[in-house]
Amino acid sequence: MTQDSTFYRQVADRLNQCRGALALTGAGISVESGIPDFRSEGGLWSRFDPMEYGHIESFRRNPAKIWQMLLEMDDLLSRAAPNPAHYALAELEKRDRIHSIITQNVDSLHQRAGSAQVIEYHGHGRDFRCDRCQQTYGREGLVLQPLPPRCSCGGPLRPNFVFFGEGIPPEAHQNAMDAARGCDLMLVVGTSGTVAPASFLPGIAKEHGAYIVEINLARTEITRQIADLSIHEPAGLALPRVVTALVELN
Ligand code: ZN
Repeated sequence: MTQDSTFYRQVADRLNQCRGALALTGAGISVESGIPDFRSEGGLWSRFDPMEYGHIESFRRNPAKIWQMLLEMDDLLSRAAPNPAHYALAELEKRDRIHSIITQNVDSLHQRAGSAQVIEYHGHGRDFRCDRCQQTYGREGLVLQPLPPRCSCGGPLRPNFVFFGEGIPPEAHQNAMDAARGCDLMLVVGTSGTVAPASFLPGIAKEHGAYIVEINLARTEITRQIADLSIHEPAGLALPRVVTALVELN
């Protein structure tokens, strides 16, 4: 079902009037780029149970086994390309209508679409670090086989993203909290608001007076409890329509 264009005019009006808008994005925005949500069926996650393969305890018990999944994930991420939703958010930043994006994704697709201010709440998959001594290793020229790739100290390398069972990188958490408290509009895109602590961010923004616009395919807890306006369409369709409505206003 296509939303009435008045919805998009309302969002554009709000974006036009607000002082500082922020976007919060989740897995849903990258599904259209070929990266499956770990909670949905299909692809990578039908062969690797995310709760097992994504948990830091599993990695530490058997890094070689978890690296079989990480190799496929790395391949998936390297083949993925930004979709119209990523480009629309980059355009909103260029037009000074949002000042930053908090993303729960580790795929770097916002940066590749041209967004400059991106808070990576769960880290990223661009490089690796030693799980023992924390030394960082760039992706380029890294010898991955035999699994797991190892640091010169002998420790196993891991991606620079957060596994289940680990905390949010403190700086990203602080920046996200500051941004959520300081915005007067939050665009929530492709995230159902169920994975803590990122799920608290829309509520924090709302408590501090922000207007909450949700773009999610299906109804979510955010629709029921937090959103002032919900658009249930693919983000790759909805966000470009927001940009078009904004251009028509100005
Ligand atoms: Zn090391």
